[in-house]
Amino acid sequence: MTENMTSTSSPCAACKLLRRRCAKGCVFAPYFPADQPLKFASVHKVFGASNVNKLLQELPEHQRGDAVSSMVYEANARVRDPVYGCVGAISSLQQKVAELQAQLAIAQAEIVCLRMYQGSDLITFNTKMTSFSPPVAPSSPSR
Ligand SMILES: [Zn+2]
Repeated sequence: MTENMTSTSSPCAACKLLRRRCAKGCVFAPYFPADQPLKFASVHKVFGASNVNKLLQELPEHQRGDAVSSMVYEANARVRDPVYGCVGAISSLQQKVAELQAQLAIAQAEIVCLRMYQGSDLITFNTKMTSFSPPVAPSSPSR
């Protein structure tokens, strides 16, 4: 009985891209399945396969999944924005937070003003505008 290497023994996305045999204990295989080739491609492009391999082997197994999703996120951000990477996304979100905090402060100040206005009967808007116009001295033309 001969088993073809068509469907059952297909290499993981990493080994496929690196054109190597996917060994049984392949460190990439649990995180880079064959049906998601782009996931490894961007990580490999940004970090390099050997660095990813080294990093994964230094980590305990229960942290590897988080490390991979972090690297995939960072790599995709770096591909989209080669200069700032995910720092660009972080700083634009921080800017948005600052804008929303400013809007919130304004809204809270408006609420305080409205409560003060409703609460006090003393405030009356006497707008007695006495029109004051300075006397205009008729200029006597000298002749
Ligand atoms: Zn593999």
